[in-house]
Amino acid sequence: MYLSKLFIPITKDLPAEAKIKSHQLMLRTGMIKQSSAGIYSWLPLGFKVMKKIEQIVREEQNLIGAQEMLMPTIQSSEIWKESGRYDDYGEEMLRIKDRQGREILYGPTNEELITDVFRTSVKSYKLLPQLLYHIQWKFRDEIRPRFGVMRCKEFYMKDAYSFDLSDEDAKKSYNKMFYSYLKTFNRLDLKAIPMAADTGPIGGDLSHEFVILADTGESDIYADKNIFEIDLNRYKFDDSSLQKMREDFTKVYAVTDEKFKKEEFNKLVKKENQIITKGIEVGHIFYFSDKYSKPMNCLIDDKSGKKTSVKMGSYGIGVSRLVGAIIEAKYNNDIMKWPESIAPFKVVIIPSISKNNKENLEKAIKIYQELKKQNIDVLLDDVDENMSNKFKKHDLIGIPYQIIVGAKSDDDNFEFKEVNNTSQILSLDKIKSKLKN
Ligand code: ATP
Ligand code: MG
Repeated sequence: MYLSKLFIPITKDLPAEAKIKSHQLMLRTGMIKQSSAGIYSWLPLGFKVMKKIEQIVREEQNLIGAQEMLMPTIQSSEIWKESGRYDDYGEEMLRIKDRQGREILYGPTNEELITDVFRTSVKSYKLLPQLLYHIQWKFRDEIRPRFGVMRCKEFYMKDAYSFDLSDEDAKKSYNKMFYSYLKTFNRLDLKAIPMAADTGPIGGDLSHEFVILADTGESDIYADKNIFEIDLNRYKFDDSSLQKMREDFTKVYAVTDEKFKKEEFNKLVKKENQIITKGIEVGHIFYFSDKYSKPMNCLIDDKSGKKTSVKMGSYGIGVSRLVGAIIEAKYNNDIMKWPESIAPFKVVIIPSISKNNKENLEKAIKIYQELKKQNIDVLLDDVDENMSNKFKKHDLIGIPYQIIVGAKSDDDNFEFKEVNNTSQILSLDKIKSKLKN
């Protein structure tokens, strides 16, 4: 892609409400555009990053055997009346009427809808366990939407649901998701802490929030820093190893504010290991047994032919929130660097261009074509402006590698820079092999 052709409306004017870095940066680099309070359009640059995050989330869900499906954004109020949440959910739910006057709503979450799908399709334990997920827009009429995509009304979420015959089996599904979440956040180059949490309006008795450290986060973190020492590679993907994994994590202190008790914290965690800080919730998992299946009559035949309520859990990841959360975690000294796994482009070629010297641009185009041939996702900054402006712009956009075609380059060697590192002069072949890794 040529930068001059890319729809990337970079702006200097920021609205007063853009208080945190990620919000400012996403607006400045034209990743998003607010359409009304808490509702955004995703422009090409932001959309590309979000889609890459979505794909990593999807791959990790598929790896644990979860199956992707798609449920609608609009739901009927009937199923919510059956579960009893139609009244309980409160004003965050956007309630609408269709032309027949039927009450419908824009889904804030999908426990009821998936239970309805399940109860009409599965009758026997033989089809269990099942893990189903979709990645779909949600709407919550947040009282104070803020921080850009971090807390908005319309947001993109991966939500998964597990179905098991017994509470014991259901915890195995919970452990799989726990593992999958840690792997997902690792691939996004994030250190997420699983914190024991209250279950809130979703309900149930077992729950973890996955939170990443960030000063601008809205969640309080109380944790033992040994939580970062647990190596996920120690565990195999089988039920007993995953059970051990969750126990190992649970042994190390990490709780949300509702569960925090100062005395207990001081007793259990040495002063030098205490983390008391702010974080961003990027995922939340719940085990709630028959909270929905019972009132909604989602029954299956067990091995003896007896009807029993299916045991369920639900598992969310804030895919759109993650775009902002990753910026908060990675932005440093006024420079943005995306993790390679989700960067909008892998590398940008920045030629020094002037009116009477187009030679660098021609060289840059040749490099561009070479890299394209290798299937490397490359951006060419062909915009006619001075180098210092170009560098400022790329500090914001955060593409992890730069090839600079200017005074330091000759016919075959170019300046190659990994953001936040010093540059090297390398031949195109060396550059190619570095980018292929
Ligand atoms: P929060 O406490 O931040 O309101 P929640 O507990 O209400 O989150 P869940 O119902 O667990 O959220 O939703 C799953 C995930 O969806 C959250 O972990 C978060 O990453 C994301 N999410 C929730 N609400 C929003 C929102 N208003 N805007 C963007 N993402 C959100
Ligand atoms: Mg909420």
